[in-house]
Amino acid sequence: MSVDKEPSMLKQKEMIAKHFDHLAVATEQGKKVVYTFVPGNLTELLLAFDVLPVYPEINALQSAMRKRSGDFISEAERIGHSEDVCTYVKCDIGMKRKGNIGPTGQPLPKPDLLLLSYTGCFTFLKWFELLREEYDCPVVLLQTPYQADGKVTPEMRDYMVDQLKKEVIPALEKLTGITYDEDRLRGLLALSARAEDDMVHVLESAKHRPSPIDAYFGGVYYIGPMFTAFRGTQGAVDYYATLRAEVDGRVARGEGPITPDGPMGEEKYRLVVEGPPNWTNFREFWQMFSDEGAVVVASTYTKVGGVYDFGFRHDPRDPLGTLADYCMGCYTNRSLPQRVSMLSSYVKDYQADGVLVNSVKSCNSFSAGQLVMLREVEKQTGIAGGFIETDLVDARYFSAANVKNRIESYLQMLQQKRTGGAVKEATL
Ligand code: SF4
Repeated sequence: MSVDKEPSMLKQKEMIAKHFDHLAVATEQGKKVVYTFVPGNLTELLLAFDVLPVYPEINALQSAMRKRSGDFISEAERIGHSEDVCTYVKCDIGMKRKGNIGPTGQPLPKPDLLLLSYTGCFTFLKWFELLREEYDCPVVLLQTPYQADGKVTPEMRDYMVDQLKKEVIPALEKLTGITYDEDRLRGLLALSARAEDDMVHVLESAKHRPSPIDAYFGGVYYIGPMFTAFRGTQGAVDYYATLRAEVDGRVARGEGPITPDGPMGEEKYRLVVEGPPNWTNFREFWQMFSDEGAVVVASTYTKVGGVYDFGFRHDPRDPLGTLADYCMGCYTNRSLPQRVSMLSSYVKDYQADGVLVNSVKSCNSFSAGQLVMLREVEKQTGIAGGFIETDLVDARYFSAANVKNRIESYLQMLQQKRTGGAVKEATL
């Protein structure tokens, strides 16, 4: 069934297509290209130097959605990468080895610089070590202190700002020949903050009943421009204003989310989801929930490239300090107790019936501690948790029948609990 696309969807598609068009001709036009990662990205700073960012995880997940990741992963395993390596990495390495044709079918330019703003995942370091070998280009590391004690201290912040001043900005100046212009950065950050306000409004609209959005499956589209090349642009401001108006319209009409198969039916279950989605079978995965009337009202994955719903906004008054705060605040840079408290507050604030972990085989950064976290959230909120396992971009680890069975059993348990029937003790 084909579903009419809303203006925001068309706009996003156009923005992404244009970005890949620019990347395809970047080398011949003499544009500088920086590869960097989504969590803790410094997009505004890159834009202040007129460089084009590339996000390898986004290429990997988009390749998976287009069913191309399997070949890339095989290629990476053929050249020696173990089955246990994060599949985003293998997908990216395999794509490079097979000609570096990006998800849109256009060639991707080689990086002039690898900017590693390390946030909570050791794999990022190893990933760029591999890319440095492939491309023979410099790496700049912005080391982001982990929030091990659940807070950001002034020393951590100073350390970050110092690195921005002494390492990152000089590297970008050297690369581009452009002098750092703080006022220009302030202007870009002001645009970010405007878009962030609207994005939070959209994510928080899920507090309505019925929720007008799915904050996980739909949510990954809503965070797309913010988490990638468009933060700090007028395009992002316009996109989020359009999206906000559409979502407000759905609230006013009492409508639920739009799924790839059309408007969702009656909202029967409200869930909080922890962990990234599976991308190889994304549509099928979503349908397993929407067919059952289960809508995700809040998710942690939509905070991986920035936690905005607890008040953080990029602040143009303190350009480098705000970039430091942003990097340190990303979800995977937070301690496990902080993550538990986020999940528990989502259950309460969004009046969720259940909390479900999608544990992906690839990602240690997300998966470590998830079962313990789930037990703790159950204790704090009194609701029963569920647990499923899939993978990011490796279809070999998506067992559709098994996942569907587990989701259905979990929802039945929630239903039994609601109607006062017998509840299984163990988490599914
Ligand atoms: S391990 Fe997880 S956070 Fe790290 S690169 Fe892979 S998917 Fe990203």
